[in-house]
Amino acid sequence: MLNRRNLLKSFGIAAVATTLPEISVTAKANENSVKPIVVSTWNFGIAANADAWKILNAGGRALDAVEAGAKVPEADPNNQSVGLGGLPDCDGIVSLDACIMDENGNCSSVMALENIVHAVSVARKVMERSPHVQIAGTGALQFALSQGFTKEDLLTEASRKAWEKWKSENHYEPIKQNVGHDTIGILAIDAAGNLSGACTTSGLAWKYHGRVGDSPIIGAGLFVDNEVGAACATGKGESVVKICGSHTIVELMRQGATPQAACQEAVKRIAKKQKDYRDFQVAFLAINRNGEAGAFAIQKGFQYAKTTSSGSELVNGMSLL
Ligand code: ASP
Repeated sequence: MLNRRNLLKSFGIAAVATTLPEISVTAKANENSVKPIVVSTWNFGIAANADAWKILNAGGRALDAVEAGAKVPEADPNNQSVGLGGLPDCDGIVSLDACIMDENGNCSSVMALENIVHAVSVARKVMERSPHVQIAGTGALQFALSQGFTKEDLLTEASRKAWEKWKSENHYEPIKQNVGHDTIGILAIDAAGNLSGACTTSGLAWKYHGRVGDSPIIGAGLFVDNEVGAACATGKGESVVKICGSHTIVELMRQGATPQAACQEAVKRIAKKQKDYRDFQVAFLAINRNGEAGAFAIQKGFQYAKTTSSGSELVNGMSLL
């Protein structure tokens, strides 16, 4: 008798593949797609989008646009949550997490990188010039230097003072809650309809030395699928990683959810499983391949910046609380 097992044996793996039902519902780009478009987290996303827009408006690639956008807050010493001037860890050391992902599913990240301002560009180099997806710590620094990046002191006077104040008040114990956070996640669709995304942060202030958040974890802090859309996260990384946040959102959009509904569902999953959700912030931002954007956060106050040919605006994200 030709039962299922014999069938699989005789036809091998190829036969298994052909027996799998088609379950994905791919969002098709429609004629009214908004493109180019760039969205990014928080109000400093406006300045980031402006640099990204220069590339998109000139017909450039979304990947170049998101990298250029992410570099803006990285270079801003007054932004204490990204790049230069980021609040340090409990030992007073600034360490950066960043990742990038393109329209072909290529991606890479650097984790706990010290002394290099543009972590997002190092992540891109990992993607394009190494056989790896993730490089961490001293290895990431070594790789960056080999690629021509220069070492800089990332601890500004203001961030050093904030750390010393925290240390004197907190007996040198890293706090559990997030303070001084605000990653930039940036998602773009270029004129050709291709998506890319990037994420870069100095992570939670006063974190343990060597701590890695969600931002450089592909599928947690960022995920891009050119057939569907893209998503990114900001807020308490530990909570985002636990639900694989950005990948979850893209898969929900694949099944037909709007970007906002998908972000809302991800927040609901955190709230369902993490009983202390009232004590921290997580916000998700997503875009589908038609250029519809949406966001949802646990706490009030999350905003994202959106830039199209009609201009730039700050949009208030909805929230659970
Ligand atoms: N998600 C970042 C982290 O956990 C923090 C943030 O968004 O500000 O490292």
